[in-house]
Amino acid sequence: MIIRGFRSFLDWCRWLWPSRAYIEIDLELWLQMIEELGRRSLGGRRETGVFLLASILESPRHVVKPVYFDDLDPECLVGNIHIRSFGFSKLWELCEEENLCVIADIHTHPGSSVDQSLTDRENPMIAREGHFALIVPYFGTRSVQAREVGVHEYRGDRGWASWFGPKAERVLRIRSY
Ligand SMILES: [Zn+2]
Repeated sequence: MIIRGFRSFLDWCRWLWPSRAYIEIDLELWLQMIEELGRRSLGGRRETGVFLLASILESPRHVVKPVYFDDLDPECLVGNIHIRSFGFSKLWELCEEENLCVIADIHTHPGSSVDQSLTDRENPMIAREGHFALIVPYFGTRSVQAREVGVHEYRGDRGWASWFGPKAERVLRIRSY
C-alpha cells in the first residue's frame, strides 16, 4: 500500500509539473498526419485516427511511423471507431517486423472539445499502462498546435491522466529543426 501510495504521489507530481516530453514528433510528420486525418474524415463527416509507432531500439519516445486505423481495417470508421481483431494482428506484425512499438494513438473529435468521452475512457485503443491517447479537434480539418490537443495517458486500474493547453504542450513535443 505504501508503494502504491508513493507511486500515486509521483504520478501526481508528474501531472502537475511535466518536466519533459513523453512523446516527440517532428513538425513535418505532425503536419502530414493532421492533413491526412482531415482528408480521411471526408470533409469532417467522420472520426478518424492513427497509431504512432516508435523504435524500440533507438528512441522509444520519438514517433517514426504513423499507421492509420483505416489502413489496418478499412471498415473501422463507422461514426465512432471500431477496429476488428485482424486489424490489430496486422499492427503487431508490423511492429515485430520493424522493431517498433505503439506508444500512442490519435483520434479526432468533431468540435473543439478534446476531453475524452465515456467511450474513450472505457475503451483504450491499447490497454497498456503508459499508452497515450491524443485527441485532435475539428476532425483534423484545420491546423492543430500541441496546446490544442487533449493528451491522455492510460494508467491501468488507476484510470487516466490528462493534460490540456500549455501542459499538453510539455508532454507532447512537436519539434521543428
Ligand atoms: Zn473520442
